Amino acid sequence: MRKFLMTIGADRCPALADEWIETENPYTGEPWAVIPRGREADAYLAVEAAHEAGKGAWGRLTATERGRLLHRLAQLIRENSDTLVDLEVTDVGRRRTELEGGALEYIASYYEYYAGLADKVEGQVTPVDRPGMLHYTTYQPMGVVVCIVPWNGPLLLASTKIAPALAAGNTVVVKPSEFASTSILALAELFDEAGFPPGVLNVVTGYGNEVGSALTSHPLVRKVAFTGGNAGGAAVARSAAEGFRSVTLELGGKSPNIVFADADLDAALAGVSLGIFSTSGQSCMAGSRLLVHRSIADEFVDRLVASMRDATLGDPGEPTTDIGPISTRTQFAAVLEHLDVARREGATAVLGGARALPDGGEKGWFVQPTILTNVTNDMRIAREEIFGPVLVVIPFDTDDEAVAIANDTNFGLAAAIWTSSLARAVGIPPRLEAGTVWVNAYRVVSAMFPFGGMKDSGVGRENGTAAIKEYLETKSIIINATVRTR
Ligand code: NAD
Repeated sequence: MRKFLMTIGADRCPALADEWIETENPYTGEPWAVIPRGREADAYLAVEAAHEAGKGAWGRLTATERGRLLHRLAQLIRENSDTLVDLEVTDVGRRRTELEGGALEYIASYYEYYAGLADKVEGQVTPVDRPGMLHYTTYQPMGVVVCIVPWNGPLLLASTKIAPALAAGNTVVVKPSEFASTSILALAELFDEAGFPPGVLNVVTGYGNEVGSALTSHPLVRKVAFTGGNAGGAAVARSAAEGFRSVTLELGGKSPNIVFADADLDAALAGVSLGIFSTSGQSCMAGSRLLVHRSIADEFVDRLVASMRDATLGDPGEPTTDIGPISTRTQFAAVLEHLDVARREGATAVLGGARALPDGGEKGWFVQPTILTNVTNDMRIAREEIFGPVLVVIPFDTDDEAVAIANDTNFGLAAAIWTSSLARAVGIPPRLEAGTVWVNAYRVVSAMFPFGGMKDSGVGRENGTAAIKEYLETKSIIINATVRTR
């Protein structure tokens, strides 16, 4: 059994109480490593280490120098990609082909993007309607930033926070998911090698209600960036509010993928499939509701079923695998529970609908790719985030009805429309209550443009130039030039 250590200041350490959590391989269903079970005292050490680092050499670096370190880190991520990919395949069940085919490069790109931005955060001189007064804004680091990360994409979802937080000059404590900490623990070791001073990046592992809540309530923490479920997000926001700490929340989704009758149906099929079945549906932006025009609904669903019927489920490390396992035992049970709910609600599984037992992965946590028809938007399976390879199909008759169904959800993370009509491509996106709308595309995301949710899908945005401001304090400086100075 492999043993992983936390990074606190200059130390690689177990938890103070020397307690451990087993982490399981979703393909085999067996424990394969242990991670430290940090508690309040470990959280406090990490926050203090981060605070000290901010007052030390890190705080004296110029923004350009911080950018150089982030560039070096991006390079090290590429050089160590084999190790990082192996860890996410083993710990999370992410497919090697997906990580090697671009996802790991995408993670490295975050550090480069924010490295470049570090010394381009410009203030503003504002006209003042009083003679002799000069006003300008500057931006300065907040201090200690806590980044709380879920299990479905640990390296990526940590990096979307770490990169802008460090570019802005803060120091960071990361709390990975208790189900998937190992890749982030390995990433932390690269910070040393890149030349970051000790304490700039700390990682403490353990349970959310133990080490996580200790971090979010620590008085030295000025900002919490969270990605995860809505219950965790609400707890984090409450705790942060007590201490008047700033928060960014990236939460769940139930995103509509809307196919109009005039769409390029081949492209739409590929986009709908990618939207829900890549990462086995374990993606906040999964296109989990297919809204399809009634005139093409039967044909479209038949083609979708045919395209998925022979999908290969199995070892996420193998290049021939199309669909990997569900990442955690708890989530596996939750997806199967939703399939029971679907049956009770009267939905029809035109594909899948049950646990899968692929050769070699019989003890793993596999769910058949599932397409459910006879679904209305008021059913639980159309309203709750399933976070598995489960697509519900809801036909519509008019554009207004499609928009109404799309918006009839508590979530507002993403949406897509598939159409060949310019009027729809231009006219529909503004009407959709979602932080991201794709037209004839799905899952196109980048460090370069904002991502985040409306309604219950979150608060604030990650990515893009504006996201660095989520990690900076704005300062107004007013100079009275009518008073004599030397
Ligand atoms: P989760 O909320 O259970 O856990 C997320 C993280 O929060 C974990 O590290 C956990 O330990 C920690 N945590 C939980 N309670 C806490 C508390 N009270 N105080 C501090 N930390 C706490 O979520 P999960 O099950 O790991 O992840 C799946 C969820 O994440 C899904 O709902 C999904 O939609 C969401 N997600 C959102 C995005 C996005 O960008 N919007 C991206 C990926 C995943």
